[in-house]
Amino acid sequence: MTSRAREWLVASIVLLVVAAGAITAYLYNQKLRQDRDALLYLPKSSPITPSTALLQRYIRVKTVNPPGNEIEGARFLAGQLAEVGVKGEIIEAAPGRASLYARIKGKNPGNALMLLNHIDVVPPTGKWDRPPFSGAVMINMVYGRGTADMKGIAICELQAFRDIARSGRVPEHDLVFLAVADEERSGTLGMQWLLDHRPDVFDGVRCVINEGGVTEMEHESMRYFGIETGSKLAVDLDVVAPSHESLLGLRRALEPYIAPRETMRVLPAVREFFAAVAPTRRENRDVLRDIDATMKIQKGWLVPANYAELMMDGIWMSGAEPAVNGGFKMRVLMRNLPDEQPDDRIAWLSGMAKPYGVRIGEIHEKQGPALPSTADTPLFRLIATTAHRQYRVTARPDVLPLSPTAARGESSATVCSLTRSTSFSRSASTDPMSASGSTGSSRGSFFCAKSFAAGHLSPPDTNCQAIQERIGEIRQTRRHAAC
Ligand SMILES: [Zn+2]
Repeated sequence: MTSRAREWLVASIVLLVVAAGAITAYLYNQKLRQDRDALLYLPKSSPITPSTALLQRYIRVKTVNPPGNEIEGARFLAGQLAEVGVKGEIIEAAPGRASLYARIKGKNPGNALMLLNHIDVVPPTGKWDRPPFSGAVMINMVYGRGTADMKGIAICELQAFRDIARSGRVPEHDLVFLAVADEERSGTLGMQWLLDHRPDVFDGVRCVINEGGVTEMEHESMRYFGIETGSKLAVDLDVVAPSHESLLGLRRALEPYIAPRETMRVLPAVREFFAAVAPTRRENRDVLRDIDATMKIQKGWLVPANYAELMMDGIWMSGAEPAVNGGFKMRVLMRNLPDEQPDDRIAWLSGMAKPYGVRIGEIHEKQGPALPSTADTPLFRLIATTAHRQYRVTARPDVLPLSPTAARGESSATVCSLTRSTSFSRSASTDPMSASGSTGSSRGSFFCAKSFAAGHLSPPDTNCQAIQERIGEIRQTRRHAAC
């Protein structure tokens, strides 16, 4: 080798080493940046769209329950429907306690889809960053009581319904919009009242989209898209006794049932949920993947508490306090498995209470039985496919240990709820119709109501852009067949 060739060789080697060093430094830098960004979350501001503005206006309509005064909300929604030529019916169960009902007739009977939401909100307790009825926007959040539960979803449903009305196209099947009163306090003057007095509202309804479900977020990205297929159901009552001591005696006797160590049973929907969620867990993956195998080898205690709750009835008691009519009372809240007969549970409690001279008092709420739905439905598949396409996320069944909506315990139709993110309670993305929200936003998913209305119960077409919030539950009660 000549000296010139040797120089070239050395120069090339030096160049290669420098290039390799530069590339390594670049990649290392990128990795550091990714790690830093993963720890540091900086929300990006979102534009205020017409849907955001509409949500802000709806938040400002005070519908706190109690007292409710949902008629103001019903009038607001009716006004929005009137703009697109739809006449909504305001139905008053009691003075001021109104629901709003509207229907777009389809070409064919049956198979109707109901877009269900509730008008009332719970009282704004605690400390708020912004006034609870301001609808204020901060960076990428709308603040206000009811933003997440569930006026944001209501606006999404409203926009979907309005879009279909405005298009002038007759859907294949009926599309129903129903905004109910009194959901936050048992539904007696809302869903329950409508089922008892206005069965025509539910004519031909096969599926209902409602609130519920859980969408798991990690900063800007979605980790699990829960399409809720069912939940535990509530029995809420007072027990009464002549003395404080009697109630404390019962309380002690019930304590082992607050967190029972033994699993009762695994419902098919819960089994399916565990199997679906298992691959997305960092821990407990093997425990949940085949719950029957886990139980068989006596490893049920490894199941995390929030999942274990789905395999047993639960009970919780408040402190004993003086009753208005003399004596003492204690509130008892039971969270029952969805197939449980509530009267059986009350009879069990009554049996437990008897030796202490305690009896059942006022019953505030008695839900169930309402079996979870199967995920094997066209609507479920449509939701899952759309969510996956939109967000590249696993969209699977979800069964909740809580029972957040009265409609679930009472509706005679198959109910399909919109989900909400785990990480917010008071605010939503500035744009409920947008897929580019933020952590704690009300984004999550959307359901193609237009597609459904057009009769395309298959992966949606280009028209698919309707309810862009959370998607949730598909469930059924014993009175109806699966969706
Ligand atoms: Zn709600």
